[in-house]
Amino acid sequence: MTNNQKVGWKLDNSYARLPETFFTDVMPSSVRSPRLVILNQDVAESLGLSVEALQSDDGIAVLSGNKVPEDATPLAQAYAGHQFGHFTMLGDGRAVLLGEQITPAGERVDIQLKGAGRTPYSRGGDGRAALGPMLREYIISEGMHGLGIPTTRSLAVVSTGEPIIRETELPGAVLTRVAASHIRVGTFQYVAKWCGVEELKILANYTITRHYPEVKQSATPYLTLLQEVIKRQAYLIAKWQLVGFIHGVMNTDNMTISGETIDYGPCAFMDTYDQATVFSSIDTQGRYAYGNQPYMGVWNLARFAETLIPLLDEDDEKALKLAQEEISKFADLYQANWLTGMRAKLGLFHHEEQDETLIKRLLEMMGKYKADYTNTFRALTIENFNDESALLSSEEFMDWKTEWEQRLSRQEESKGSSQQLMKQSNPSVIPRNHRVEEALKAAEDGDFTVMERLLKILADPYAYSPDQEEYCKRPTTKIPYRTFCGT
Ligand code: AMP
Ligand code: MG
Repeated sequence: MTNNQKVGWKLDNSYARLPETFFTDVMPSSVRSPRLVILNQDVAESLGLSVEALQSDDGIAVLSGNKVPEDATPLAQAYAGHQFGHFTMLGDGRAVLLGEQITPAGERVDIQLKGAGRTPYSRGGDGRAALGPMLREYIISEGMHGLGIPTTRSLAVVSTGEPIIRETELPGAVLTRVAASHIRVGTFQYVAKWCGVEELKILANYTITRHYPEVKQSATPYLTLLQEVIKRQAYLIAKWQLVGFIHGVMNTDNMTISGETIDYGPCAFMDTYDQATVFSSIDTQGRYAYGNQPYMGVWNLARFAETLIPLLDEDDEKALKLAQEEISKFADLYQANWLTGMRAKLGLFHHEEQDETLIKRLLEMMGKYKADYTNTFRALTIENFNDESALLSSEEFMDWKTEWEQRLSRQEESKGSSQQLMKQSNPSVIPRNHRVEEALKAAEDGDFTVMERLLKILADPYAYSPDQEEYCKRPTTKIPYRTFCGT
């Protein structure tokens, strides 16, 4: 039996068959002494990979980049992007795509090693990643998956046994990322800017085949592609808002065309409700603040729409008008997703004219009393109003609650089914920053049990189980939490 057969690798690489300007063939760099730090059994199984074989020396050799599976054609993808509004040439500077695993369910997913060494797109970087940030991506992406939010997944983290130089020396690591694909808004920007219209069409057709096969039926496939991408992003960003997730670096190279959340750098979850919340140390202007995410989402989509202009109509002006029309629909699409989600968070099954006002009043009160976002909805769900914030004992909240209860009583559904809906819509736990940090600190000291416990809790955030109570608490320290990019 070959190693491939033992592990279950079944790789194709359709991306490698695209025009050669789209990527560069590159092997992952080898590392000194790889050690498997964490392996995701669920993901492994869904990929048709043997957990046991992945844990063997041969399996770990692949997860660290020391060996590539027999039928892999490793490559680094070229892309561009607007970083904080400024257009730049980018590309996989520290990631290598091993190929596309064909899963037992017949799906095609990218297997990418992040932190796999230098590539032609590394610019000044070392191509490497540190253990802390790779485990952080693992925890938060799996947390997002548990929350039911489209996201790339994490198969494994391997420590390399090599130090990497940042502000201090840090242990190096490689993350195996699993994604529907790594096609980004920035991929289209790269092709639109530096390749011809034929190549652009090839990329668009490839994207349609891979992520939006139903679009092939359309008489205007590229316009329909734009519409569908806008729909998925309106859905995704509404989901982020509903759980208080702040991506932190919504540059166009970090927005996928598949509609999955990608690139867990400086992201973090909001504790205290505040539209202006920013965690990223470099986001000094608050460009990617919590309340700005929908606006930045549509800004990125406008950049995507621009790349499609040559495919939308022969007449540029007409094409631009078509693109603008679609972009202008984002706001309503987003709002509809958000309202549906918010209604569910309040146990409401149907639409009533005043719902939006009811929701906004609650959020305003949360802001005023500096209430914890997740815990306020949790309190409403379990009807436990002994929260630490002053909100739930305030008179204005009592008035609001009376109105909410009246609203609930106007619907036909039982109280029980309302509560059920709330439990499914309001996570009891989120990857709280202090918990994530605690897990990472322990891991750096060689104790992985804290992280494993946290991951177990985050796998089912809607369970409302007693063992989650401990993880619901907001942090006690008042030091503002800071996150970092380019780690
Ligand atoms: P990010 O902020 O993680 O989205 O990365 C932005 C760009 O910088 C991407 O093109 C990355 O591939 C590249 N990059 C980030 N870190 C490194 C590194 N250590 N070495 C080389 N390139 C990097
Ligand atoms: Mg990125």
